[in-house]
Amino acid sequence: MLQSKKRTWVEIDENKIVHNYHVMDKHIHDTKIMAVVKADAYHHGDVKVASLLENEGCDFFAVSSVDEAVRLRQNGIKANILILGFTPSEHFHYLHELDIVQCVFSTEFAQTLNTYATTQNVKIRVHIKVDTGMGRIGFPCLDDNYHIDEVKAVYTCDHLEVEGVFSHFSVADTFDRDDDEAYTFHQIELYERVLQDLAVANLPVKIKHIQNSYGAINYPNLPYDYARIGILLLGNTSDDAQPLKVPCDLEPVLTWKAQISCVKQVKAGTYIGYGRNYQATSDIQVATVACGYADGLNRNASHKGLQVLVKGKRCTIIGNICMDQFMIDATGLDVHCEDEVTIVGIDGDEVIKIDELSRAANTINNESFTLLASRVPRFYI
Ligand code: PLP
Repeated sequence: MLQSKKRTWVEIDENKIVHNYHVMDKHIHDTKIMAVVKADAYHHGDVKVASLLENEGCDFFAVSSVDEAVRLRQNGIKANILILGFTPSEHFHYLHELDIVQCVFSTEFAQTLNTYATTQNVKIRVHIKVDTGMGRIGFPCLDDNYHIDEVKAVYTCDHLEVEGVFSHFSVADTFDRDDDEAYTFHQIELYERVLQDLAVANLPVKIKHIQNSYGAINYPNLPYDYARIGILLLGNTSDDAQPLKVPCDLEPVLTWKAQISCVKQVKAGTYIGYGRNYQATSDIQVATVACGYADGLNRNASHKGLQVLVKGKRCTIIGNICMDQFMIDATGLDVHCEDEVTIVGIDGDEVIKIDELSRAANTINNESFTLLASRVPRFYI
């Protein structure tokens, strides 16, 4: 792949990642950050982000899968690495070979892992995941469905070394319903109940963690060892859908740019793009930008008034976003082929946050970032 700042590319500011890490670290007091760098650090570059943060003292990283954990290890990351999700049994050997911590989320999985570790005569480090209201992986630990005996049984798997017990919030980032906050507090109560019952049974929990980014921001004073922070290491968001209860000086780290390929004047009545979904109501200047949904620009953002920046001015996307191109109304601007367009970032006095794109596409920033395609080169500045 040609690694040039041509057609479309992303710039990632390393200093801002470090800045955000320290802002979050301060915000959560004695709790430490477990940096979540899954999905290639939300497509910001997992090895790059983890290396930067390891230098800043981060001693725990979380990923979603064994291949992500192996990539970090093979690229020199020495800190603890927790796999948050499932690992297929044929890849269990990486866990002890590379000293990777595995999440254990069901009796069946615990037994399979323990049987493997027994046959290899190795100990595998694990964190037990308890489900306090998220409803995906984890031993159910709800009011009316409390599987504490199964959690305790993991401690009897003599080739698993239980280091941690953790859970995950489902609505720490939203206050849409009146009882969202109460729901999160109830998840904390259920998690506490688990910790209490394990303590009574003399089963040690060295490492406790439940908060994600919004859990850390919106519920910062919890007495746990780590908070698993992903999205907010990558910058501020002021989106209404994911409000920060406490303002925090977090900085967006990513800028996404593209080049104009073609500029033309069109008459009123001209259709623009697939489906003829946009028709010019007056004579306008249309600029085509060399970036599309195959680069990660969500097609659902078509016809939502989403704007980009050209020469410091906002221009609206018109017509359906295509696979490799999109069109903007650049009327009144002196623009030419190869001029720069800012899809996310700052140009002059104007700024477009990832939130604008996410809102237009009816999604969250996490998804918008992870849609950024591998064919879009990243430059670290
Ligand atoms: N913990 C778990 C289990 C997750 O699945 C995720 C991300 O989805 C995170 C932590 C990090 O979440 P966030 O990016 O909101 O910080």
